Amino acid sequence: MESFGHIIDGQEVPSVDGAAFQSIDPWERKPWATVALGSAADADRAIAAARTAFDTGPWPRMSYAERAGILHRLADLIEADGESLALMDTTDMGKPIAETRGHDIPRSAQNFRFFADYSTVTAAEKFPMASGFHAYTEYDPAGVVAAIAPWNFPLMMETWKVAPALAWGNTVVLKPAEQTPASATRLALLALEAGVPPGVLNVVHGYGPGSAGQALTESSSVDRITFTGESGTGRAISAAAARNLTPLSLEMGGKGANIVFADADLDQAVSWSIKAIYTNNGQVCLAGSRLYVQRDIYQEFIDRFRAAAEALVIGDPKDDATQIGPLASEEHFDKVTGYLDLAVREGARILTGGRGSGWTVRPTVIVGAGQRDRVTQEEIFGPAVVILPFDQENDAVRAANDTPYGLNAMLFTTDLSRAHRVSRALRVGTVWANCFFVRDLRAPFGGVKNSGVGREGGNYSREFFTEPKAVVMNI
Ligand code: NAD
Repeated sequence: MESFGHIIDGQEVPSVDGAAFQSIDPWERKPWATVALGSAADADRAIAAARTAFDTGPWPRMSYAERAGILHRLADLIEADGESLALMDTTDMGKPIAETRGHDIPRSAQNFRFFADYSTVTAAEKFPMASGFHAYTEYDPAGVVAAIAPWNFPLMMETWKVAPALAWGNTVVLKPAEQTPASATRLALLALEAGVPPGVLNVVHGYGPGSAGQALTESSSVDRITFTGESGTGRAISAAAARNLTPLSLEMGGKGANIVFADADLDQAVSWSIKAIYTNNGQVCLAGSRLYVQRDIYQEFIDRFRAAAEALVIGDPKDDATQIGPLASEEHFDKVTGYLDLAVREGARILTGGRGSGWTVRPTVIVGAGQRDRVTQEEIFGPAVVILPFDQENDAVRAANDTPYGLNAMLFTTDLSRAHRVSRALRVGTVWANCFFVRDLRAPFGGVKNSGVGREGGNYSREFFTEPKAVVMNI
């Protein structure tokens, strides 16, 4: 059995009260690691270490180039340690090793490289004033950042927050999801090895409510909260942050619409749409979980989509060939299969898929659901897509916009004007036309409605992780 402690002020430590919990391998359905269970006291220790490192340590006072050098070294170490980091995420939450090794870990290293470089090359503004004065903007680090992360892309989501926070000179307390504690612990140790000073990146483990997570959101010593997770949790965090007026960035749930027009390249549309819902077992905030297909091609699309879904390889996530592993936990398996039962109760039909062995769910296609049914409106967060036909462009746009979420949408068409027109009409943070999940880290990332508050990426991350200060000079 492995064991993981908190990383506070450069040391791996147990909880103040000695409490611990277990991380479960969802394929073996057995515990594989013992993890320190953080309480408010542990969160406070980590915040105090981050506060001291910020107020008196070298990190916020280093040049951008010096910090960037250290963050590049950290990226090198992540790559060198890629195999064991990939195995940690795969063991913690069941994601196929081909994905953790081929996508999540390289992207985690890239997050550090990108923000290291970006922080050194972005220019600040200067405003010449006709009156004999000029003003310029200085981007001061914001202070102590609490980063609260989900389990679905463990190291990748954590580094998406930690990298910009560090690049702009902040200190951090990271709380990984309780389901995926391993790679975060390793990250903090690698950061120390790369030369990040003790206290700059702290990791505290534990749960949300009544545990380390809640304590981080209630602390008056925290200057920023960056959270990714469910919309309901975002609401609770928002309420806690309001008491101290702590600025926050919330990246939350989704119910991505994927619109396939009759003029689309069907091979392309099927292959991207399969990726959009079955990548990471559908446990993706951006999942294309509502597929709207124009009626002229509805049957042909469904036949092809179903064949491609049934061809996906289900199995042990540690096997190179596996494309679909188990869901991340028993609790999550119960949630997802509960939605499959609900679909049938609501009058829809499971065309293919359903429960597999252990905590696996076979790639599932739901047809015959209504637009207002719960399976069409709520985030299932599993390998289950609802496919609905539509007639006119306007019908598709109206249906796509008709959920409480607004994270992203996809559309497939060969008509350029339509691609622009529909992109504009969709109330979401990201539109992918004829593709899915292609990211440019300079672009804004976030959602509207229940999917998010604020944006991260490029300058948007700088705005959030710094205090832009106006300096006005009498010349
Ligand atoms: P979750 O909200 O259950 O947990 C996320 C994190 O918040 C965990 O670390 C958890 O311990 C912590 N937490 C829970 N309650 C808390 C509280 N009251 N105070 C402080 N911390 C608390 O989410 P999850 O199940 O881990 O992740 C899945 C969700 O994340 C889905 O809804 C998915 O769409 C969303 N997500 C969004 C994005 C995005 O970029 N928009 C990316 C990935 C995942």
